[in-house]
Amino acid sequence: ATHLVWLRNDLRIIDNKALYAACGDPDAKVLAVFIATPTQWQQHDMAPRQAAFIHANLLQVQQALAARGIELVYHQCNDFAGSLVWLVDFCQQRQVSALFYNRQYEINERQRDAQLERQLAGKVICHRFDDSLLLPPGSVQTGSGEMYKVYTPFRRAFIQRLLESDVNSLPAPRSRGEKINVTPPEMFDYPLAKVGSAYPAGEEVALQRLRTFCREQVQDYVKQRDLPAIAGTSSLSPYLAIGVLSPRQCFNRLRAECPDVLENPESGAFCWLNELIWREFYRHLMVAHPALCQHRPFIEWTDRVCWQVNDRALQAWQQGQTGYPIVDAAMRQLNQTGWIHNRLRMISASFLVKDLLIDWRAGERYFMQQLLDGDLAANNGGWQWAASTGTDAAPYFRIFNPTTQGERFDPQGTFIRKWLPELVDVPDNDIHQPHRWAEKQQYVLDYPLPIVDHQQARLATLAAFEAAKRGG
Ligand code: FAD
Repeated sequence: ATHLVWLRNDLRIIDNKALYAACGDPDAKVLAVFIATPTQWQQHDMAPRQAAFIHANLLQVQQALAARGIELVYHQCNDFAGSLVWLVDFCQQRQVSALFYNRQYEINERQRDAQLERQLAGKVICHRFDDSLLLPPGSVQTGSGEMYKVYTPFRRAFIQRLLESDVNSLPAPRSRGEKINVTPPEMFDYPLAKVGSAYPAGEEVALQRLRTFCREQVQDYVKQRDLPAIAGTSSLSPYLAIGVLSPRQCFNRLRAECPDVLENPESGAFCWLNELIWREFYRHLMVAHPALCQHRPFIEWTDRVCWQVNDRALQAWQQGQTGYPIVDAAMRQLNQTGWIHNRLRMISASFLVKDLLIDWRAGERYFMQQLLDGDLAANNGGWQWAASTGTDAAPYFRIFNPTTQGERFDPQGTFIRKWLPELVDVPDNDIHQPHRWAEKQQYVLDYPLPIVDHQQARLATLAAFEAAKRGG
């Protein structure tokens, strides 16, 4: 028998369900493939730095498999359609008897996999696994068998289910022979970008970071997670997004370091688990409502909001030139590193939608093009939450004030000064409204005036949402 593992969003060898199952039969020959699809990635707005991160991690997986006598074959074609043609042919050439893969939940990916299985029917047995989640989509439902629309009852039911489920992590597969020599994959035919030294490739790095976080930092997570000047969150999202790390590994490590995590809802450990459950919530939701993958708002009437088409404002937001320091610092960090704190994502998303009245989909897209941890479900969930168009979203009349958000979460302006060097001389008290200070000092700041007046913008947004809700 020849077993083929198709690696996609699961670039690790430890706790990889498909890989582990493929290696279950000691007599089978095991092969792996990875197929790059740059045109498809471009259509999905994958950030160039995420492509580079995938490449760097792919090299590591290939080496780790080669050390165990498993060949990883690399192929590049344009899109999903091309990948199927190649894969069917590959299965025939290599006389593959069974295919193993971990499910992806986005709509195009699901259609691709269904099509592949139809083409292989009768020739290759297909084994698919729910690997990128703690619990499979559809397994946490309301009493009437539906997906929850509100997060807190979902979480309650989720934890109940979690306690009944086997979520132990699997080991790496055993060696299947001598170390083999492999040709490293060439760089993808994709716009080039640097990942930056903050995110070294490889599952050992990710596991080490997870261990340190659960041992030394998670206790302070409640206090620190909203403060962008402090590295108080795990920064594991880039690894989780492309499957260098699994959520089971996260949960099991957390439970090992904090055994009473579930009994102690006030603890940092529980608070962190809560974030992992948000990740699950949005993925479960996307499977229950595939239209979320197709730019549809969850709340239908919000599609009637008359969004402003304003390229100048959109660009100012993208480039961190809005005149609101916390928003601009966030966007400059995003542009330079591909990662920002959750709080900053909320502030910045809220500003685009509620202060500039620009369609959330433009922001969702821009984030995706920049994020190292870009993930359709989490990004869409976050944007629809901020735009008040999603399930369990902030109600449309709750509008963040970007100045007071800055005062609350970056009180001394430490984060702002790091990313906006033109404001280094502005004192703490004025850092969130630097022009007020500049005027008093008769100082000319090389920094834009606010591009909108928040109070006026707020009223305009309320009116636009109210009109849409009334139906016109
Ligand atoms: P931690 O605080 O350490 O959390 C641990 C893990 O839980 C994260 O790595 C992530 O996998 C998951 N997680 C945390 N918060 C959320 C959340 N609100 N929703 C879903 N999962 C969560 N996260 C992404 O992974 N990819 C995205 O493309 C993405 N886009 C977002 C867009 C907006 C507008 C908003 C508001 C949030 C978005 N998030 C996204 C969620 C969240 O901001 C990031 O997961 C988090 O900031 C990553 O940092 P961390 O790894 O240090 O998180």
